[in-house]
Amino acid sequence: MTAEGHLLFSVASVVMVHQLQISPDISQGDWLHLIPGALAGALLPDIDHPKSMLGQWVRFISVPISRLCGHRGFTHSLLAILTGIILFRTQLPVSWSVPADFYQAVIVGYLSHLAGDMLTTAGIPLLWPVRWRFCIPLLGSKANKRAERSVALIVLVASFYLPAHWEVWWDHLRELVLAQISARL
Ligand SMILES: [Zn+2]
Repeated sequence: MTAEGHLLFSVASVVMVHQLQISPDISQGDWLHLIPGALAGALLPDIDHPKSMLGQWVRFISVPISRLCGHRGFTHSLLAILTGIILFRTQLPVSWSVPADFYQAVIVGYLSHLAGDMLTTAGIPLLWPVRWRFCIPLLGSKANKRAERSVALIVLVASFYLPAHWEVWWDHLRELVLAQISARL
């Protein structure tokens, strides 16, 4: 996925999290924190690539990380995803001056980057350091800006049509599945 694709996808994702009311900090957040946070988070995972947008700015970090883990290594792994989810659920200490909505938007942007890379045939090594790549290759192998923009637009439009309070429809879905299973036993 191109840097532009990641940036668009991160904005669409933070709108989705806002609309689905997954986190009070984001659903009541300030767009002036949410958008920059998501954009920053979207660039972070490619810090392991000296030629990426962020990697070029901070070569003193990107070069050692790429030598140590390779591109799409640890920063694109399940470990990184789980760390992101735990951090998302962790309240920042009040003494830190980072706004909670900005902080959570960075994590949403980060996770959206990994989801975006999963849509390409290159995939991501979820089980890093095992090298197997996992993908749902909707976007194919070549950087296809039109397809990337379409995916971001679909996420954006979907976020206004999906019902808010995702935990309610998640519970319905779970009940439905459990009912199906118990009917078969
Ligand atoms: Zn990446």
